[in-house]
Amino acid sequence: MTVIRPTDPCSICSEAVEPHTESYCNACGRLFHLNQREDLPGRDCGTVSLSETHLALVFMCSACLEGPEEAVSPTLDAVLDLSEAAQTAGMSEAELARAAEAGRVSHRRTAGGALLFERAAVEALLRTRGQA
Ligand SMILES: [Zn+2]
Ligand SMILES: [Zn+2]
Repeated sequence: MTVIRPTDPCSICSEAVEPHTESYCNACGRLFHLNQREDLPGRDCGTVSLSETHLALVFMCSACLEGPEEAVSPTLDAVLDLSEAAQTAGMSEAELARAAEAGRVSHRRTAGGALLFERAAVEALLRTRGQA
């Protein structure tokens, strides 16, 4: 069992955490700075908010606010243009453009008018079509 002491460094900025800034992230469980005293100076390496569903304080470190490390973050590779997306979905470009227009697949339209799709959204569309 790991005992985390208040002298452990912040998981965000690696600096020592004072007792009044000691907070543990509800998402990853790591220690981070969050100043809980208005009368004392302190650093904030995350936020705390009130969860309306649980009526509890929810602590979040900056890393988790930006998205969990494990999550598949959208990279360039995960963004497809219309012809790539149509190929992935096994549809014609026109079909896919209509599906996008109908809001059946989340997409983005660039300033130039080109449609962009996230691979995950296209694959989800493919699954729904497979079941139909
Ligand atoms: Zn910190
Ligand atoms: Zn966290």
